[in-house]
Amino acid sequence: MATFKAPKGTYDLIPPVSVKYLAVREAISAPLRNSGYGYIETPGFEDVGLFARGVGESTDIVSKEMYAFETKGGDQLALRPEGTASVLRAALEASLHKQGNLPVKLWYSGSYYRYERPQKGRYRHFSQVGAEAIGAEDPALDAELIILADQAYRSLGLRNFRILLNSLGDKECRPVYREALQGFLRDLDLDEETVRRAEINPLRVLDDKRPDVQKQLVGAPVLRDYLCDACKAYHEEVRALITAAGVAFEDDEKLVRGLDYYTRTTFEFVHDGLGSQSAVGGGGRYDGLSEMIGGPALPSVGWALGVDRTVLALEAEGVELDIPASTSVFAVALGEEARRVLFGKVTELRKAGVAADFSFGGKGLKGAMKDANRSGARFAVVAGERDLADGLVQLKDMESGEQSAVALAELIDTVKARLA
Ligand code: ATP
Ligand code: MG
Repeated sequence: MATFKAPKGTYDLIPPVSVKYLAVREAISAPLRNSGYGYIETPGFEDVGLFARGVGESTDIVSKEMYAFETKGGDQLALRPEGTASVLRAALEASLHKQGNLPVKLWYSGSYYRYERPQKGRYRHFSQVGAEAIGAEDPALDAELIILADQAYRSLGLRNFRILLNSLGDKECRPVYREALQGFLRDLDLDEETVRRAEINPLRVLDDKRPDVQKQLVGAPVLRDYLCDACKAYHEEVRALITAAGVAFEDDEKLVRGLDYYTRTTFEFVHDGLGSQSAVGGGGRYDGLSEMIGGPALPSVGWALGVDRTVLALEAEGVELDIPASTSVFAVALGEEARRVLFGKVTELRKAGVAADFSFGGKGLKGAMKDANRSGARFAVVAGERDLADGLVQLKDMESGEQSAVALAELIDTVKARLA
């Protein structure tokens, strides 16, 4: 029979590497959990219209990368390509914004789907941890999120990342800039698709990665020169707050990012060891999104960090995460009676909070000790019929190789004491 493989552009997380992904999710979410962000989980698919409106028809995400489908019941759905629109939809649906204390601060972790050309760091199924702070226009909130992402990466031991920062203006000043940019773009020699993009979403043209396009963009009007006073002051305050927190960043006036709904603060985390898939995370302010999906005005800010690329960044920097062995005690039972007794002890150890595992499958001593070694356990507990007849088990320290007999009745306490 034909065997099956993971679909193109996807991969499986398998032990022992999968533990890194858990550690990265944990490290990214820890600063959020510590800063008043509540956990939210939304469905893996949504009404396709939510993304069409909330991400934008003119973005690559919606126009090219979305897994959209019709259900048997005729519903038009899409696998979620990103998290912000879903989280805001859920917050509005639950009226979280009406319960008094704005901003509503939420974090999430999950799988996202984009029909992309697969390559290293670019997959069709990938995972993100994200944060959204909904319903407040406060530069300290933008700063908080940037600082927390920086803290997350640093806690993992990453060093070679940079924070790029820009302001996209607001609904007052951005249209003026947009027009100036469009005027500039009309005089360039661009392909048909790019010309069309320039009419729908000219800022996205600045994001074009092709060198021939980038060459023509030299001398394009710069948004910074068009920011209104309110946006300028807001941006200066964000910059001052993250500077005061000791977080280094680079002003990048060309940074626009892919989503239509960003306003004002926009930022990206890039890692220098990842080649062309250098963005490990990004985010920004999206003051207009709520109204775009039918809600009230709720100025908000958020980010999403890519777990897959963060793991690649750790590998690129040669960072070894300090992940403790998952098993502390491995029980090796020789003979039927010993199996019964030690299996009981393993259950007791687990109840006492000690990570324990057992030599399943009726192996001999040699094979079972190999398993004990592979488990990374600090101690092996070995017992045969003769030990048990004496009320004893052998406790072997797998680090020193030292072995001693311990009374069966004292096993749990002894192990706990020696692990402490
Ligand atoms: P890129 O410019 O590389 O396509 P993006 O701007 O589309 O990135 P965002 O939508 O901002 O990415 O998503 C935030 C993060 O999610 C990215 O910085 C990246 O780490 C991760 N990410 C996005 N798309 C993918 C993908 N196809 N495979 C793996 N990770 C991804
Ligand atoms: Mg993309």
